[in-house]
Amino acid sequence: MAVVVYLETENGNFKKSALEVSSYGRKLADETKTNLFGIAFNSADPFKIQKYGVEKLINIKTDHVFDAKIYADLLCKNFKDLSGKIFITGSSADSRFIFPIVSISLNASYTTNVIEFPSSISPLVLKRSAFTNKGFVFTELKTNHKIIGILNNSFGIFESVRKLEVIDYVAEGLVSNVQVKSIKEDEEKISIADAEIVVSGGRGLKGPENWNLVEDLAKTLGAATACSKPVSDMGWRPHSEHVGQTGKPVASNLYIAIGVSGAIQHLAGINASKCKVVINNDPEAPFFKAADYGVVGDAFEVVPKLIDGLKKFKSK
Ligand SMILES: Cc1cc2nc3c(=O)[nH]c(=O)nc-3n(C[C@H](O)[C@H](O)[C@H](O)COP(=O)(O)OP(=O)(O)OC[C@H]3O[C@@H](n4cnc5c(N)ncnc54)[C@H](O)[C@@H]3O)c2cc1C
Repeated sequence: MAVVVYLETENGNFKKSALEVSSYGRKLADETKTNLFGIAFNSADPFKIQKYGVEKLINIKTDHVFDAKIYADLLCKNFKDLSGKIFITGSSADSRFIFPIVSISLNASYTTNVIEFPSSISPLVLKRSAFTNKGFVFTELKTNHKIIGILNNSFGIFESVRKLEVIDYVAEGLVSNVQVKSIKEDEEKISIADAEIVVSGGRGLKGPENWNLVEDLAKTLGAATACSKPVSDMGWRPHSEHVGQTGKPVASNLYIAIGVSGAIQHLAGINASKCKVVINNDPEAPFFKAADYGVVGDAFEVVPKLIDGLKKFKSK
């Protein structure tokens, strides 16, 4: 009975979250003295996952555009063929769409937002983030088959090379009830979900013409860019950058907020970030209470100095 990881890909490449899911799976397989197997869709370079401990990979080849039911059915079939017992996935929007279906098909208990390695393996007890990352819940999974959904950037990536067997599985003859009419590419340069560092701007930046501050800082740090809800509502930035309770969740290692007040709905989506830095000219801004580091100052003075300092530091 193996540990099986779902390894998400984007344009044929494993996502960063897939490496984290593998690392988690490897440790769990070692602790439970079993094998670690993986399932991916359309990996262009499947042997890349070997470094992270996977011993056998089913690479499902399909030209179907994303359809949660079809993906779920294919994952269930291959999970059963691999004699899986524990299924591990990440926390992307697609995965949260697929795995409730997988959970019903396998009659498996499923918990999301897991932030640590199990505190107990038998019974399987998992620590998960709850209350929009303001508290924790310890959950026991009781069924025979179990599904763990881990929160991005919560466990880390660890190398542990194994001999890897790759098996191609060609998914043919599938009929989808979903038809994609058109596809519009996301304009994000670095995806917010995968980013180690996110630089975010709020209404304090006064207008879209000042976004060079956010973009320059992000470029210097190799970060993704994000924004508060009103900023995207006003069309200053694309909706794909809106983070918070009603936007994308952020669980980066570093989150820098510039001219963002720190309203509860904004903080709800970024609380899982490890280190939060705020730049705001109002010392009473609520963000200062949630931040690890704060700069009270005018963004138009502070950010150029920060970029300059970082460039000098990097050039040394
Ligand atoms: C149901 C619901 C859901 C919501 N969901 C979300 C969500 O998902 N995400 C989200 O972000 N919001 C959400 N909101 C909106 C939220 O309540 C706030 O209104 C919003 O986050 C405020 O955006 P802001 O911080 O950019 O703007 P503001 O509140 O206007 O804050 C601007 C900040 O910039 C500072 N500032 C001004 N000038 C400067 C300067 N020169 N230098 C430095 N700082 C400066 C100000 O001191 C202020 O703190 C939601 C609201 C509701 C009711």
